[in-house]
Amino acid sequence: MTRRVGLLGKPLRRRHSKVMHDAAFRAAGIDATYDLLELDADAVAAAVDAARGPGWLGLGVTAPYKKLVAELVDEVEPEATRIGAVNNVTKDEAGRLIGFNSDAPGFRAGVELAMGRPLAGTTVVVAGAGGAAHAVVYACLSAGARSVTIGNRTVASAAALAERFADVGEGSVRGVGLDDPAFAAALAQADVAVNATTVGMVDPGATIPVEVLRDDVIVFDLVYVPPETPLLAAARARGLRAANGSEMLIAQAAIAFERWTGIGGMDGVMREAVAPLLVDPTAIA
Ligand code: NAP
Repeated sequence: MTRRVGLLGKPLRRRHSKVMHDAAFRAAGIDATYDLLELDADAVAAAVDAARGPGWLGLGVTAPYKKLVAELVDEVEPEATRIGAVNNVTKDEAGRLIGFNSDAPGFRAGVELAMGRPLAGTTVVVAGAGGAAHAVVYACLSAGARSVTIGNRTVASAAALAERFADVGEGSVRGVGLDDPAFAAALAQADVAVNATTVGMVDPGATIPVEVLRDDVIVFDLVYVPPETPLLAAARARGLRAANGSEMLIAQAAIAFERWTGIGGMDGVMREAVAPLLVDPTAIA
């Protein structure tokens, strides 16, 4: 029987996850496919229920269903509960559905690769307070970051995010407005400056003014379509080290694949498979 993992979301415009997971299934010799299931909200509960069947390895979950699926599975892992989002579902030996979050460890892997050092002890600035920023801020604090400053267009969301994770790790965390002088002051001290907003992807605008950054900072943009956002272009033009979200994408996928199959180390296979799409999202990969 060909087994399945289904990605629940709407809309599902990207094929990156499918290409990575299908390549990993082939490389591992597993007869399974990763299917894009673009569903309306009222069909999600039935899809989650169907995944209890023996043909299913698990589920991927993306916007707007990361909170909804958390309510439908049998158990949500503590880290995903803390972050407030389930982006994957696996099954335990008893067939119970377990929701987990691979964005936080995926971000940690991606940013530590870009920095060439652990997050522990670093001074981090994050632009954004949405779903991805929750995973980023949690990952930084739980990895031992010294301080995290969150800047968001809507200040109340930045403050709420800081409050949510105030007790994670030993570091300090605070939320300010993107236009607050405290945000620029924090950027001037940062070891790593992260864009976790949709700016540069679908939204025009600016989040991180690169001129205030230190020369040895890492600029990390979670966006990977387009591969070079205006932020990354500006950082590189200033001679700064900069990375997009592609390694986070690959790392979180490899983590999920290991949870579904027990097989780790698929990052290389996934990286090679998704490379054409990372250059051109419309490429046939
Ligand atoms: P989200 O929950 O919708 O949050 C969007 C964030 O962007 C909010 O903080 C929002 O601020 C901010 N924003 C939107 N337009 C803005 C503008 N014009 N100026 C300033 N801020 C603006 O989105 P998300 O799920 O967190 O995703 C954020 C990004 O991360 C997306 O580009 C997504 O593709 C990327 N991502 C990448 C990976 C990866 O593996 N590389 C994983 C997850 C997400 P307000 O609160 O003020 O609206």
